[in-house]
Amino acid sequence: METTKIIFATGNRGKLREASEILGEGFELFTPMDYGLTDDIPETGTTLEENSRQKAEYVYERKHCICFADDTGLEVEALGGAPGVYTARYAGESKDFGKNMDKVLSELAALETSDPSTSRRARFRSVVTLILDGEVHQFEGIMEGTIARQKSGRGGFGYDPIFIPDEYPGLTAADISEEEKNAISHRGKALRAMAAFLKG
Ligand code: IMP
Repeated sequence: METTKIIFATGNRGKLREASEILGEGFELFTPMDYGLTDDIPETGTTLEENSRQKAEYVYERKHCICFADDTGLEVEALGGAPGVYTARYAGESKDFGKNMDKVLSELAALETSDPSTSRRARFRSVVTLILDGEVHQFEGIMEGTIARQKSGRGGFGYDPIFIPDEYPGLTAADISEEEKNAISHRGKALRAMAAFLKG
């Protein structure tokens, strides 16, 4: 069977594995590195949509092939949607997940001190941009939940230890298995929407 070669603009092997599983047979994924693109891809947009598109276009302009990129943000209702596009570096350029989580927890705690009814609702939002035959297509995936009062769990990565998905009350995304998380995750949903489009 003929396979369709696609570049996923990521250096993250975990994401590559997840996307390969979702796309399944008939698609072969490569990283920019596999095609000799070794520079850091710029992310200077102010929205997830812009950043995701910028990364996909960066690869497309150099390789003129089918390619896609993703960008994800944690949007906390009481923080006006922050950290949003700044999720990775919310507490500074070191991209320290522990510090990032502590910052969200302490900001929410401060708001709750002045208003005990402060909402802890939050969501992860992923935007995947696919460039196919030179045309741009975007797909969104959302995981809804609440911010925990303290960190819990050893699995996952990033903000998982403080995010309680609506599907698993009382458990954080770091308490559940990788399969359970992938089935409900923002990125999984956006990638499945793209896969359905590519196969349709
Ligand atoms: P990226 O756009 O996928 O690189 O995600 C940006 C940042 O969002 C990451 O550095 C993580 O801190 C956070 N993030 C993305 N996806 C997840 C997730 O599934 N769980 C927890 N944190 C995540």
